[in-house]
Parts: sequence; structure tokens; C-alpha cells
Amino acid sequence: MKKRIAILGSTGSIGTQALEVIAANPEVFSVSVLTAGENADLLIEQAVKFLPDEVVICSENKFDQVKSALAGFPVKVYKGAEALVSVVESDEVDIVLTAMVGYAGLLPTIHAIKAGKTIALANKETLVVAGELITALAKQYQVNIYPVDSEHAAIFQCLTGEENNPIEKIILTASGGPFRGRDKAFLASVTKAQALKHPNWSMGAKITIDSATLMNKGLEVIEAKWLFDLKASQIEVIVHPQSIIHSLVQFEDGSMKAQMGLPDMKLPIQYALYYPLRLKSDFPRFNFVDYPSLTFEKPDLETFRNLAIAYEVLEKGGNAACIVNAANEIAVDAFLHDKIGFLDISDVIVESLAKIAYVENPSYTDYVQTNEATRRFASEMIQVKV
Ligand code: NAD
Ligand code: MG
Repeated sequence: MKKRIAILGSTGSIGTQALEVIAANPEVFSVSVLTAGENADLLIEQAVKFLPDEVVICSENKFDQVKSALAGFPVKVYKGAEALVSVVESDEVDIVLTAMVGYAGLLPTIHAIKAGKTIALANKETLVVAGELITALAKQYQVNIYPVDSEHAAIFQCLTGEENNPIEKIILTASGGPFRGRDKAFLASVTKAQALKHPNWSMGAKITIDSATLMNKGLEVIEAKWLFDLKASQIEVIVHPQSIIHSLVQFEDGSMKAQMGLPDMKLPIQYALYYPLRLKSDFPRFNFVDYPSLTFEKPDLETFRNLAIAYEVLEKGGNAACIVNAANEIAVDAFLHDKIGFLDISDVIVESLAKIAYVENPSYTDYVQTNEATRRFASEMIQVKV
């Protein structure tokens, strides 16, 4: 039986790489659903190639274009964010790959879990915003969430066969991003073009900026807490600029397991889609001789405040991480539109955390309200700045 996949965000970096994996393994995968935010041209091209049952274009003014381009094909076309929550529930779907960016991934993921679909989770923001709710739902509906994020996929692979062995701690590796080793004086004037140049990975704009500010690693610390049921004190971050060791687990006997290889997101994507089996691939292989030194250093939490903020909200719990996520999304977008500087991103987050009401045991509605209130506050704060 082929695994039938729905890809939320098929036109993005993860989405397109997932389609490469699927195209390379047509005997085991088929595509049921493709969705995109705005990129109608690419969505049409993908739909013609993979012939999914359903596609969704979220941007309503692109609907007519997609609808007429696919008129001769056996593909149903829907529009708007509302359609995302119904397509994931289709009987034709086994696995939902959440590859859209940001808070918008939360609601479709909730619907997919409630419909009993296996989740291949790239959209880390879902677990950052509402990790407690999502993990509880996954338990209630007996749904597995397999990580696509490379660090978490590494840990997941290290945990195979270790079901009865408690984790002492995990170590998430971080490349350090394009500004590793730089000080605040340098960061004050960096441009978005500089921030968008990631040394090891080619990714969407938002996560690339998050990597430059170390917010990405902060979000991953929170993501790891929920995926692997850990305390903040059990999650360590180490900067490893070569991105060869993708992360490590340390067990109670002191033994450490690492997963390593050349950086290529297609590997964690196909591991999540085909778990527990590994698929043959022709991805370039790692060779020790090409990397005579793998190096490690402590992250600089004073310069890159976002990582420290993530640890802080992890301890705080409640809706604190939801506030940080929303403020960060607004601030990164403003930075990408040249409205604020690089260091302002952390300021927007810190001020939002101080301003938005803390809720200790948030419901789904509380998350929605927190997200909206934070976005409003952060946007207003940025308006005043410019
Ligand atoms: P991207 O910007 O390249 O692609 C995002 C996709 O989501 C696009 O298809 C876009 O059309 C769609 N989209 C964006 N906003 C939307 C909205 N509001 N509603 C519906 N669809 C929307 O992003 P990416 O780099 O592929 O990242 C996707 C997710 O995967 C993010 O959560 C990111 O943190 C995570 N992730 C990415 C990588 C990577 O290598 N790119 C690695 C680990 C985790
Ligand atoms: Mg990652």
C-alpha cells in the first residue's frame, strides 16, 4: 500500500524537497493534497505533475488562475485558509506533512490529528505555540508526530531501540548562522541580504532570519521539549558550524549517540514519511577526510538574546511561547521589509512578553487571542519605530 501524502505548503523549501523525495520513490508514495499560500504558478505545475485529488490556494485572488489552469485535470481546487482544515481530513490521506510556515500551521495540524492522520511535522511553530495542546491531542487520538526538523529527526533516530532507556539530556547542534562570532555593534547594521545568506542550508526566508538571530534554535529547544517530553535543563545547545552532527542524545550511563551526515533536508523528510524503514537514496555521502575537523563552541546568549528568551519562556510555560512566536513572526517580517534593524527583533519580542497578558493554562481560544493581541501590539510598536 502506498503512503498517501498531503503537503501543506508544497511550494516552499520543505514542500518542494518533499516532492523530490516522492518523485524519486513513486512505488511507495503518492500525493493526495497540495496546498500553497500564494505561489499559484508553482502549485499548478506541481498539480499537473503529481495529480493530487485536491489542491488549495490560500490566496483568494489566485483562485481563478489555478481553477482554470487545472480545469482539464482530475484535481479539485479550493481557496482560502478554511479549506486547509478540511482537506487534511480527507479519507485519501494517510500522512500530513506540515510544511507551511508560522502560526498558520496550527489549526490544520489540530484538524489532521483529530482526523487520525500521521503527522510529519516541519512546522515547528505549531509545537512552540501550543505544544501542550498538540501533544495531548496526539495522545488522545493515538496519532504519531514524526519530526522533520533535522535536529529532532536526528534525536528521533538516536532513540530507536531505546524505548526503555531514559534520556539524561539531548544536545541540539546549531550552525551559528551567518553572524556567528559577531558582536552587537556589528549586528546593529546588518542588512537582510547578509542575514539571508545561511552558511549551510537553503531554506525559506523566515527560518533563515530565525537562524541568523538564533531564534530558530530557541524554537527548536521548545519543539524538543514537547516532542521528547523533556525539561528545559535536559536540553543543551552547542554551536557546530559544519552542520555534520545533526544532534545527540546522552543516556543515563553516559553514553552518547549522534546522527550525522551531510546537511540535506531530504533525508529527515523521507525518514519521517517512511518511518520506521529507511529508503535507499543517492544523496551525496559524507566523507571524514573532507572534514578533518568538526568543531564545537558555546552559543553566545548575550549577543543572540532570542535563544535565552526561548529558555526563559520554556520555564514559564502557559502562553509565553505563543507570545514569543507571534512577536517574532511580526518582527522578522518587518526586518524583511526593511522596517526595523536586526537587533530590534529581540526588542519587539521582549516588550511583547512584558506587555501581553500571561495565561497559565491556555485553551485553544486563549492561544488564538494571545496570537492576535501580540501581533497587534508588535505591529503597533514597529509603526511607532519607523
Ligand atoms: P517556505 O517559506 O519556503 O515555504 C512555506 C510554504 O508555506 C509555501 O508553500 C507557502 O506558500 C506556504 N505558506 C506560507 N504562509 C502560508 C499561510 N499563511 N497559509 C498557507 N500557506 C502558507 O518555508 P520553509 O523553509 O519550507 O519552512 C516551512 C516550515 O518548515 C517552517 O515552519 C520551518 O520552520 C520548517 N523547517 C524548514 C526547514 C528548511 O530547511 N526549510 C528546516 C526545518 C524546519
Ligand atoms: Mg532545524
